[in-house]
Amino acid sequence: VSGARLPVLVIGTGYGGSVAALRLAQAGVDVHMVEMGMAWDTPGPDGKVFCNTLEPDHRSYWLRTRTKAPLNYFLGLPIDRDIPRHTGILDAEEFGGITVYQGRGVGGGSLVNGGMAVTPRRENFGAVLPSVDPAEMYGVYYPRANAELGVGTVDPDWFDSTECYRYARVGRKHAQRSGFPFVFVPDVYDWDHMEREAAGTAPKSALAGEILYGNNHGKKSLQQTYLARARATGRVSVSPLHRVVSVAPAGGGGYTVVAEQLDTGGAVTATKTVTADRVFFAAGSVGTSKLLVTLKATGALPLLNDEVGRGWGDNGNVMCGRANHLWDPTGRLQSAIPCAGIDNWAAGGAFAEVAPLPTGIETYASFYLTITANPHRARFSWNAAAGRVELDWRTAWKQPSIDMARTIFDRINAKEGTIYRTDLFGVYKIWGDHLTYHPLGGAVLGRATDHYGRLTAYPGLYVIDGALIPGNTTVNPFVTITALAERNIEKIIATDL
Ligand code: FAD
Repeated sequence: VSGARLPVLVIGTGYGGSVAALRLAQAGVDVHMVEMGMAWDTPGPDGKVFCNTLEPDHRSYWLRTRTKAPLNYFLGLPIDRDIPRHTGILDAEEFGGITVYQGRGVGGGSLVNGGMAVTPRRENFGAVLPSVDPAEMYGVYYPRANAELGVGTVDPDWFDSTECYRYARVGRKHAQRSGFPFVFVPDVYDWDHMEREAAGTAPKSALAGEILYGNNHGKKSLQQTYLARARATGRVSVSPLHRVVSVAPAGGGGYTVVAEQLDTGGAVTATKTVTADRVFFAAGSVGTSKLLVTLKATGALPLLNDEVGRGWGDNGNVMCGRANHLWDPTGRLQSAIPCAGIDNWAAGGAFAEVAPLPTGIETYASFYLTITANPHRARFSWNAAAGRVELDWRTAWKQPSIDMARTIFDRINAKEGTIYRTDLFGVYKIWGDHLTYHPLGGAVLGRATDHYGRLTAYPGLYVIDGALIPGNTTVNPFVTITALAERNIEKIIATDL
């Protein structure tokens, strides 16, 4: 409601924002959440809330007239197609040297991601969050995050027998024959539901190729976990299709927050102003960084420090495929939810997930998303002439990631007598090095903020999302984002309220 005075306003409804909302509400504080994307709680014309990965429609992309599939070629042919411009669920946000994929809607990235819920190995944690005590994270906050998110692991016996993980078993065989440790990757997908999908007794989602544009069944997104519990307190309200554009100190204390209401074509239909005693920036690494950099440069929050916008990384994401022999089919039916990985972090700086290619046909391809120890960090800055925030990442900075991924796949190819696929990212192009799913940093803990995410120049302003993490988590990031948010909000509730 325009003109209202709120105790707490949270910008964004992803992991960081949802943790903050739940814990503040449980502490007796009323919370209002503002989300630029849609609510994703209403079925479309086909009776489903989310559209299928193989049949992208208006629901698929955030304000684009053509899809921008991460894997954009098949057999050397481009697969993107025209779609109506709409406030769809997946944003492929283009910066100079990289396309950053992000979820848009109530639930943030949890709506579109693979649900892979991985806690970093403890020996790697010092590189992930150097200023945080590992004992408290591994003793309290990682377990808390895993429990609330509903993390589980595939039943190994079912894994060994089901057609839908043939591709992952081929991945395991190849990894083990080359001497690499193979690991099961935990996930928030409901594994019992998936077994029922395979048995034909539950509606299909993972087994119908649903993933990038949302899962209609089975996946425990934040809508089913943190946000459901937050709403059940009766203290949390959400405004979807509202984009925060300004936060500035208010005359009588607190902060004036300006939000633009959007229609589903992306047009601004109203501008609303509220005052909040406390504001949590939870717009994701890119969203929070863009807001803070803009607000500092344009004079709304001039006292933010010079670390704002710095320390951004891509979690070392790089993709590739391998062409298997005809005796290694990967299966026509592939679960869209990955469950297996190859851990070569210690020796080669690479953790590769065996990813599906749920095309419905036999491809004889193994496909991988590899997370690597890429050392490059980029910076967001305000371009006054263009009136927008830019990121100085360069495509060439993916080369260390490619080299690290090759420590796994060159060896497997040599052992198996196989080659890389060259038809998945262009015409004769091996590496998917133009994108990330895992933006991290831009308001790094202990640098842009204090050790709990406070923007100390402005009491009552906090960062509580992936922007806090300095560019890499060694594994998929959302469990770490959630656990860090749990740690920080507990401290903030105990000391600031
Ligand atoms: P987000 O979840 O990004 O939430 C931020 C929210 O803020 C969004 O809903 C956004 O719309 C909203 N917002 C932004 N700006 C504004 C504004 N100005 N006003 C109002 N609202 C705003 N991670 C894993 O750990 N495992 C996986 O398997 C995995 N797979 C992925 C697959 C894909 C395709 C993608 C895109 C990501 C994947 N990730 C995965 C990454 C993971 O989803 C993100 O790391 C995580 O969602 C980040 O959480 P967050 O709280 O920082 O922000």
